[in-house]
Amino acid sequence: MKHYVYADNAATTEIDIGAFDIMKSFLLNNYGNPSQPYSLSRTPKKAVKEARQCIAECIGANSDEIFFTSGGTESDNWAIKGTAFFMDKNKNIITSEIEHHAILNSCLSLEKMGYSVLYLQPDKNGVITPKELESKITNQTKFVSVMLANNEIGTIQPIKELCEIAHKHNALFHTDAVQAVGHINIDVKDLGIDLLSSSAHKFNGAKGTGFLYIKNGIEMHSFIDGGLQESNLRAGTENVAGIVCMATALKNNILQLDKNQKYVKKLETKLLSLLEKDGLNYIRNGGENTLPGLISLSFPGFDGEAILHCMDLMGIAISTGSACDSKRKKVSHVLKAISLDEKVAKGTIRISLGKNNTEEHIERIANSLAKILIKQ
Ligand code: PLP
Repeated sequence: MKHYVYADNAATTEIDIGAFDIMKSFLLNNYGNPSQPYSLSRTPKKAVKEARQCIAECIGANSDEIFFTSGGTESDNWAIKGTAFFMDKNKNIITSEIEHHAILNSCLSLEKMGYSVLYLQPDKNGVITPKELESKITNQTKFVSVMLANNEIGTIQPIKELCEIAHKHNALFHTDAVQAVGHINIDVKDLGIDLLSSSAHKFNGAKGTGFLYIKNGIEMHSFIDGGLQESNLRAGTENVAGIVCMATALKNNILQLDKNQKYVKKLETKLLSLLEKDGLNYIRNGGENTLPGLISLSFPGFDGEAILHCMDLMGIAISTGSACDSKRKKVSHVLKAISLDEKVAKGTIRISLGKNNTEEHIERIANSLAKILIKQ
């Protein structure tokens, strides 16, 4: 795969090699169960404690506010259902139309159980405005969930303002930060949020590991029942290797955050200017404030899926929309929610650049797109 250009970093990322080495040592050598009292378990137990502390520091939390999970989907399910189970069914939940299906389908399950859910509409750039939340929230609202950054179009939401509105109405505020953690600065105390979901494989950790930040004092129902792990809220022997890998990968990303952001933004600018130079007619989705490197482009009159397959034949991986959605063939719910014309939406691709991409990759992506879209 040496010459393959991977430009689908919003779907998943290449593992951090230092984090992988540490992970390997916890699979091959320090494999003791952290709950056991003998010496083989001492190192894994200490490693889990240190990983919790490290992750907490990366997002401005306390270590006892970090709960390990199997990834973003579990964290989202737990955040919503774990709080809803403490809620009267005559109160309501508010989320947005552009959330990941981990949130939308969790809400759907709750609706089937008799809970009431209201959906916020984004503006044409994908922004959930404070005004939109103000128009739907009431004192009957118990829980608000709005993602920090959208996985399809990259829009970064005004989380601090949304959170203040939720708190004014005594509602809890959760954010799905799966695409944002490790890529932009996040301080949970400064933002004021109560719960935050994250997933390691989006920031160069391993798949199947994640965490949920739960602010101290929030009443939370356990999600997986069994042993006493994770303060008796999420049972099951800890995925020690995955947890240690996640903490190392996140710390490495945070240490290089400014540098990585500038580098990826530079690649993004170069790609767009090459496309313009080639005379390609595109619409950029997601507005002004988007995740560095996440570029949603619509080519009116073209078919995004056909572009994806042509790019794949040319050795380049991109996406049509959300990778988690590849089995759903309908126009993406996000593009629909921002009122993109169906014909334009069909011609949409997502290029998501990461720190491992190079200037040469950008030239290959631009050349390949020009070949597909101009010379076909
Ligand atoms: N939330 C968002 C915004 C995502 O982009 C994804 C995955 O693409 C998830 C949740 C699910 O995360 P995981 O793959 O770790 O289950």
